[in-house]
This record gives sequence, C-alpha cells and structure tokens, in this order.
Amino acid sequence: MSKLEIHQIPVLNDNYLYLIKDPDSDAVAIVDPAEADPVLAKLDELGWKLTHILNTHHHWDHTGANLELKEKTGCTIVGSAYDVARIPGIDIEVSEDQPYMFGSQKAQIFEVSGHTNGHIAYWFEGSDALFCGDTLFALGCGRLFEGTPAKMWESLQKLRILPDPTKIYCAHEYTEANANFALTIEPQNSDLKKRFDEILKLRAANKPTVPSTIGDEKATNPFLRPDVTDIQKNLQMQGADVADVFAEIRARKDSF
Ligand code: ZN
Ligand code: FE
Repeated sequence: MSKLEIHQIPVLNDNYLYLIKDPDSDAVAIVDPAEADPVLAKLDELGWKLTHILNTHHHWDHTGANLELKEKTGCTIVGSAYDVARIPGIDIEVSEDQPYMFGSQKAQIFEVSGHTNGHIAYWFEGSDALFCGDTLFALGCGRLFEGTPAKMWESLQKLRILPDPTKIYCAHEYTEANANFALTIEPQNSDLKKRFDEILKLRAANKPTVPSTIGDEKATNPFLRPDVTDIQKNLQMQGADVADVFAEIRARKDSF
C-alpha cells in the first residue's frame, strides 16, 4: 500500500491546512479547510480533484470553507458523529468504534474532546500520520473551550501512546510561543532546550516547525509530561494526581 501524499498549506495568521492524496485510489482530501481559495489554487497546481473534506472539529477556522468547497467540487464532508449539528454540510459521520476508509487508507478515529466537545483526530497508521486539529500542538495543546482539564488529559493520553515516529500534523503554528512557555515548566530538560534552539532557527527563516513527531512531543511537550517527576517538583506538586498536574500546567499557559 502506498503512503499518503501530504501537502501543507499555510493560511490566515497561523493555520495549517493539509491536502492529502491516496495514490492507490486518487481520493483527495483537505483537512480542516479554513478558506477555499488557497485550497483551490493548490488543487489546480497539483492537478488533483478534491473528493473529501476531513474535519477535526467545528470551529470556523477548521470548517469555514466546507460549504463553498462542497458546492464547487462536489466533495464529501467527513466529520465527528459526536458533533453532527455543528459541522457544516457533514455527509459521513465517523466515531471511535470504527475506522474510516479514505480510499484504500485506513484512518483510526480518536475522540479527543477538551478543546471542543466532539473533537476527533485521524490516525493513518500506514502513513505514520496523525491529523489532530487543535488537540495536540508542537509543544502545546489546545485551549479548553468546552472540556475539562481531566477530559483533555484523557484525550492526550490516547495520542501519547502512538508510535514515536508518528508525525503530528496539527492545525496551527504556535510552536515558538509554546516553547517559551514549556521552558518555564521544565527548564532543566536538555531535549527541550535543544528543540527550542531549532525552533528559533526555523522561525527566523520563516519555515514551519510542523509536523513534529510523537517521540519529540513525549520528550519535550509539558502537556504530555504531567507525570514526570522534575515537572511535578518544579510545580511543587510531587505525587499529586496527574490530571491535577495537567490542569495546573494548562492554567499557567492560559495566563502566560
Ligand atoms: Zn479550534
Ligand atoms: Fe483552530
């Protein structure tokens, strides 16, 4: 089986859209289309025909172009069965109990509420690719607009156990600000310090820091590390409930 072809399209201030193609079936999807024009231009450039939209959650900067793209291309819209009422134009409802077949590519669906209720992530194991919207970011996680910290922590643990090489195709370039915050939580983490330097170099050259990998996130992202002793010590929460440590890190980020 061939791997997905993946193109990253930067739009708005800091959003990333992903145009993906299954070479075995010519299925082509845009993940979380905030805007239509950049997608149509990229399709044109590549000579691809859009067949699907994959949404991770209902926010306008992830679904804003759903209806326009459906009207212009006749594509099919795939979204969360947990959030049908808020995904514009949804045709296919997906949920955690069943994988979704995108052409010949199998996507496992994770229900990862926290940023919003009914947020989902698509894991294409055969392509080492995770499309996780605003749940997990490079060195960060989404703001808790609708869910509790405990719910978000439960969601992130579903992603944390994926294989280390899994690429994290998240929906925003927030990495530099996240790195500044992460260093306040775990200043002694040498992997984090090294990564911080790399991020500064990439951003200075106006290059994306996304995708990262689960392996990198596990080693450096404070939101995947509330059970690490150094972090608990730094927060004076040694031995505390891990979900409470996670909640404290999230609260500190909210006021950073
Ligand atoms: Zn969002
Ligand atoms: Fe967003």
